[in-house]
Amino acid sequence: QSKANGRDMARFFTSDMNERAQQRLHVESKLRHAIERDELTLHYQPRVHAVTGALTGVEALLRWRNDELGSVPPAEFIPIAEESGQIVAIGDWVISQACEQHAIWQREGLGRVPVSVNMSALQLRDSALIDKLREAMQTRGVQPSDIEIELTESSLMDATAETLAQLRALKALGVMLSIDDFGTGYSSLNYLHRFPIDKLKVDRSFVHPTDEDVTGMAIARAVIGLGHALGLQVVAEGVETDEEAQTLRAARCDELQGFLVGKPMAPDMLPLWLSVHHARSEA
Ligand code: C2E
Ligand code: MG
Ligand code: MG
Ligand code: MG
Repeated sequence: QSKANGRDMARFFTSDMNERAQQRLHVESKLRHAIERDELTLHYQPRVHAVTGALTGVEALLRWRNDELGSVPPAEFIPIAEESGQIVAIGDWVISQACEQHAIWQREGLGRVPVSVNMSALQLRDSALIDKLREAMQTRGVQPSDIEIELTESSLMDATAETLAQLRALKALGVMLSIDDFGTGYSSLNYLHRFPIDKLKVDRSFVHPTDEDVTGMAIARAVIGLGHALGLQVVAEGVETDEEAQTLRAARCDELQGFLVGKPMAPDMLPLWLSVHHARSEA
């Protein structure tokens, strides 16, 4: 049984619910040791100012490579980490690592590169979150305004008093808050103005529709208008073509993120990306 076959095997068995549940348990047990075995890394995807093309920040995206399972995409292991509660420990690791990388880039002379991290609902409910975040930033001399937390609509859905208090505490700490994959969840226009949010990220399904559907971009335009009406910055994710970038610029979108701008990359590749991107945007 070769290592590479592990994942194919897993897919083969998905027809059987029982096998599927066992595979999840198997992944969960492997994930339990991922941090101590150094199997997790963060890749970083740049986002740029829609008009000037200047780097505005990077998004930290988890990568997991296990000897037996191979590379497991976040779409597969994040839900398992969330259900098993492991996302809290993993999320803590992400926060520390992202702050560490911010400090490294600054030491290397890249300046202060704002870093976004994705945060699951369970982390938001962690009463120690604020202390952990403060400590992660302080020990590395990272300014809170350089850290952005990406929350999904679903984690804001249960708009309890605790959620609101936690969001206010995050704002008081000085970090930026954005709503990720905006438009895919149950958007309540009611919470948008009640929550201390700085940014909306338009989901890539509206920016880069999978078929020749034009309604997607119409929704993207509407979200940009809505965000601006509420005084929020708007980022488009999943920008893949020049045409999409053009349309988004015309719609006054603030920032662009996607394969057109740059794919998620290992942190030591950022200087190279910067030099190539800079040369290209001056051409
Ligand atoms: P997300 O936060 O919406 O991140 C954007 C995803 O879209 C990333 O997938 C990125 O690689 C992909 N992407 C970016 N530009 C393009 C594009 O132009 N075209 C296409 N087709 N895809 C693009 P990735 O890295 O596989 O991550 C998937 C999701 O996993 C993330 O979606 C996020 O929800 C979750 N995730 C990743 N890292 C973390 C983490 O540290 N913590 C938590 N809680 N969730 C994470
Ligand atoms: Mg995100
Ligand atoms: Mg997103
Ligand atoms: Mg998305």
